Amino acid sequence: MSSHEHPHGRPENVLGFTEDSKVFIHDAPLKDMFLHPDVKHRKIVAFSIIGAYRKGKSFFLDYCLRYLYAHYPSIKYPNNPVSDQDEWLGDEDEPLVGFSWRSGSDRDTTGIVMWNDIFLHTMEDTGEKIAILVMDTQGLFDNRTSPMDNSKIFALGTLISSIQVLNLVGVVQEDQLQYLQFATEFAKYAASSSQGMAGKCFQSLMFLIRDWDNPDELYYGIEGGKKYLLSFLEIKSEQKKELKSVREFVHSSFEELSCSLLPHPGKFVTGARKLDGEKFNGCHKGMDHEFKDELIFLIQYLLKPDRLILKKFNGCNVKGHEFLEYINQYFVLFQSDELPEAQTIFDATVEKQMTILVNACFDNYKETVYRNRDIIKSENQIDLLHDASKNKALLAFNEAKKMGNSSHEVKYKQMLELEIDKLYEEWGHQTKESMKKIEEEIEKTRVALEEK
Ligand code: GDP
Ligand code: MG
Repeated sequence: MSSHEHPHGRPENVLGFTEDSKVFIHDAPLKDMFLHPDVKHRKIVAFSIIGAYRKGKSFFLDYCLRYLYAHYPSIKYPNNPVSDQDEWLGDEDEPLVGFSWRSGSDRDTTGIVMWNDIFLHTMEDTGEKIAILVMDTQGLFDNRTSPMDNSKIFALGTLISSIQVLNLVGVVQEDQLQYLQFATEFAKYAASSSQGMAGKCFQSLMFLIRDWDNPDELYYGIEGGKKYLLSFLEIKSEQKKELKSVREFVHSSFEELSCSLLPHPGKFVTGARKLDGEKFNGCHKGMDHEFKDELIFLIQYLLKPDRLILKKFNGCNVKGHEFLEYINQYFVLFQSDELPEAQTIFDATVEKQMTILVNACFDNYKETVYRNRDIIKSENQIDLLHDASKNKALLAFNEAKKMGNSSHEVKYKQMLELEIDKLYEEWGHQTKESMKKIEEEIEKTRVALEEK
């Protein structure tokens, strides 16, 4: 799908990584956007979506663009003839254009992509003039970008947005929360190194769960999402310290947390089936009805005028030209490698994540042993059970998603093995001892019987 087909705007890759992992910044489009006479003196709403590669982020944003063009004038389309706002979804056959989605097997550049048309609105109640920026973050977590670079981009996105949508598939996983914590911690650090930061640094974060397949338990949308959010962000007294700390961190960093559950979009959207025998063009005719209804509801919820959230830096709203200064400052900071602290924060986060994983895999070993203990009839079977349980735990470790590099992986895998072997020495030894005792008892009984 060519991104140039949109009649009014186009995506601008304003910040990203080159092949050799160097940061690049494109200044000119940023200036065109934020120093535009209609934006320069307006407060900014920065709407952003972030998350792993090829999970329907751009697809979602392109429908957001349809809503925005139907409801707000923009710098490139100031006399937007808003006819029937309820018809914002457009014609059912209309191909989906805007941010490039489904970009084939070749990924786009990793980085931050901004829609170069900015929407304009005057708040009815306060008369405030605001400008709405739309951002997409591309190429994250595709295994070609290092965890550190991924995290930096993630942090930057968090730092410059006021409404951040974190796009996840299926469920929220612990490693994703860890990434979020790293990015947020990093973002806090970057913010405070350019100027002090107090209180909750960031505005709104929505966990957007795609392909939710458990509507019987929690129904789609914001209400189901609210319950889901409560359950996974709940801090429980029996929780391990690492799990607690990441939850406390998320709570203390964002002014507003929300969650929404979206159904699977259907086989045409995922490309598993061809619509009218053709390659799917993104039109909404191809969506499952449930998905379409929820998509409409969610976009209206996120982007209607009274829900728009202004970007604050350091507790203050910023206007277009100030926003440009801030993001330039951050971009330069990221480019300059002048963040030695980043490595420290990163290492600490990796350590936390690995500790959680090692604990979980250790529990996995214990469970397998415990469940199968009764079948042991000989010493040989004790060793076999240990080997099988250990292999299962190590496999779980290998297969889990991890933040660090291979040296982290080796180190923590060794730690896991060590813990398992230590425990085995205890329970294996005890079991063998008690088996010996039982055998001795049996032997004694046999001898006694024979003597009789
Ligand atoms: P991005 O890399 O996250 O921006 O993903 P894209 O927007 O380019 O979409 C990648 C693919 O996922 C496309 O083929 C979309 O049609 C498809 N897609 C869009 N929305 C969803 C969704 O909610 N669930 C699933 N499973 N696929 C989706
Ligand atoms: Mg994309």
